[in-house]
Amino acid sequence: MVLTDIEFHEANTLEEASEWMGQYAPNARLMAGGTDVLVDLKTGRYSTSHVVSLNRIFALRGLTTTNGSLRIGALTTPNQLRASTVIWERFPAILDAVRDMAVPQIRNMATVGGNVAGAVPSGDMPPILIVLNASVILWSRSREREVPLEGFFVGPRQTVRRDDEILTEIRVPYPPPRFGAAYSRFALREANGCAVATVAASLRLDEKGIIRDARVCVGAVAPIPKLAQKAGAVLIGKPAGNAAFRQAAEEAQEISQPISDIRSSADYRRELIGVLTRRALDAARQRALGERP
Ligand SMILES: Cc1cc2nc3c(=O)[nH]c(=O)nc-3n(C[C@H](O)[C@H](O)[C@H](O)COP(=O)(O)OP(=O)(O)OC[C@H]3O[C@@H](n4cnc5c(N)ncnc54)[C@H](O)[C@@H]3O)c2cc1C
Repeated sequence: MVLTDIEFHEANTLEEASEWMGQYAPNARLMAGGTDVLVDLKTGRYSTSHVVSLNRIFALRGLTTTNGSLRIGALTTPNQLRASTVIWERFPAILDAVRDMAVPQIRNMATVGGNVAGAVPSGDMPPILIVLNASVILWSRSREREVPLEGFFVGPRQTVRRDDEILTEIRVPYPPPRFGAAYSRFALREANGCAVATVAASLRLDEKGIIRDARVCVGAVAPIPKLAQKAGAVLIGKPAGNAAFRQAAEEAQEISQPISDIRSSADYRRELIGVLTRRALDAARQRALGERP
């Protein structure tokens, strides 16, 4: 399908982008890499009269480190994350999520901000960023606010972001000692396979290997990436091992609301959540102990 009757605006600054969005919304869409927006417009998922591109706002690209956190600019691509030393050294769990995403061409075009702001239930970045306690910065001409990622999503492709707000960066705090996280994903094929079910998990252990903090987030099995509070809670105070991980897996299955579609039945997705939760927790445990999963 050919796209017609769309006015394309290339913003040079955040001010311009926010102003145009304020002026044209709800008949306008922000665009970053365009790997979702252009597909959605061409397939008619939605229509719009204005597209506001963020691509010329170079300040939104790349990673910066501060004392307490890593800041991922919204226009950073998955391949830039894969090439980053700080990601390899401090956030290997983020690599789990971008390694199998799409194909190299998409990983060069797509952006982390688009993956998060798009709020597609099977998106690969949100679950791992949630268990890493990340937050997003939303910028508009009237204010800037920081929203914890676990409170950002409200439904499929819906978030708390207002039309004139631009997601400028994702902040990920540096992990404390004896902390490990991991992401497990199942898709029907290795490349270009949309996730059927995903689980991200993080653990903080004490000197004796007892779990002091734990977070488990399920993806592609609910309208939003869902933090499984009970799965985290049952792990606290227990030795990091299979017995505790099995209990957490049951809680993660309990909170899932999978659907049946062309990729999988709901029952199979629920079964997958059990397996992926145990895998993610075991890999997180190994990382917390300084081992390589
Ligand atoms: C062939 C193919 C394979 C794919 N495989 C995967 C996969 O394996 N895993 C996966 O997770 N995704 C996959 N995707 C989906 C897509 O590539 C990702 O979600 C990508 O990260 C979206 O980023 P983008 O910059 O292209 O977003 P865009 O398409 O530009 O935007 C996506 C949405 O986010 C909004 N948006 C973008 N940037 C901002 C911002 N800074 N502030 C506010 N709103 C913003 C847009 O308005 C739009 O609603 C695939 C897509 C294709 C075409």
